[in-house]
Amino acid sequence: MSVKLSALMKERQLLSFELFPPKTDVGMEKLPGTIEKLCEFKPEYISCTYGAGGTNVGKNMDVCKMIQNAGTIPVTHFTCIGNTREGIKEQLQNYLDNGVDHMLALRGDLPFGWTGTGGDFKYATDLVAFVRKEFGDKIEIAVAGSPEGHIACRSLEADIAVLKQKQDNGADYIMTQLCWDMEQFKRWLDAIRTAGVTLPVDVGIMPILDQAATINMALSRNGCVMPRKLCEIISKHWIFPNPFDKAPFDAAVDQKKADFKKAGIEYTIEQIDEYRALGINGIHLYALNKWKDVTDIINQSGIRTLV
Ligand code: FAD
Repeated sequence: MSVKLSALMKERQLLSFELFPPKTDVGMEKLPGTIEKLCEFKPEYISCTYGAGGTNVGKNMDVCKMIQNAGTIPVTHFTCIGNTREGIKEQLQNYLDNGVDHMLALRGDLPFGWTGTGGDFKYATDLVAFVRKEFGDKIEIAVAGSPEGHIACRSLEADIAVLKQKQDNGADYIMTQLCWDMEQFKRWLDAIRTAGVTLPVDVGIMPILDQAATINMALSRNGCVMPRKLCEIISKHWIFPNPFDKAPFDAAVDQKKADFKKAGIEYTIEQIDEYRALGINGIHLYALNKWKDVTDIINQSGIRTLV
């Protein structure tokens, strides 16, 4: 394996970014430039999401190659959705043949209207065990952790037991779901350690840049708590009639968007400070394919100058 990120995380706090494969050709053409800009911060890795149902699998590999060409480690997300044992084996061998030997093993978001994965595995735990059995230590495996509990879990305790199972099945480190509720994050961190989960924790941070996207991220799938301060920022800059309206009648829309973004970046930086002070093992910034906003966050937070 190229480098073991989980081993590095035990030595220092890492910085990484997350990208998604753009839907359009223009987006794909622009992406190498974005990656180059992000690489100026010398991230230890950049991950790339994987579309449930395999809709953008080809593009995911292309993005992984762009990340490699820019000189950093690609981590591919990978899901059980619609995937058979044989299909998973073939795809992962293909990633390995292309020098991609780090993955985030996920169940995956169920596509709208689906009730199960439609594949051979129901849960991420099964995928982790399978990859370890088939590929030994050739692939480093990250797994998802949900500080507020996964939206479909029976209880937070049951979800933590699943996380322990991921560790027992061979996972190397945890990447967390977005969590703006710091008190809950601390409770979860204590609880997983009590449960015997010793894996490094790489914290996923969703930057606050856009009202509609923030609300969507919190509520469309994850049921995340939005603390009072975040709600205040959203309310203060509310775009009328609502931030989802494609043609808002609010005359101040552009100014409100800019002011919201400024306040959101400050909020994100405060959150990064708190996570760093907790001594977590990595900051994983959901870069949303935006290098300019990410540059502001990294520069203003001092994350690469204070360390
Ligand atoms: P699991 O760990 O399998 O858990 C799913 C649910 O089942 C949980 O409620 C869990 O408690 C429960 N459960 C697990 N095992 C059992 C069991 N044996 N018995 C009963 N209940 C059980 N999705 C994508 O589609 N593509 C991506 O690229 C992507 N990237 C992500 C990146 C990060 C950092 C994170 C945190 C999430 C990402 N997701 C992505 C979302 C993820 O796929 C969803 O949250 C999904 O709904 C759950 O995935 P999981 O791996 O946590 O599932």
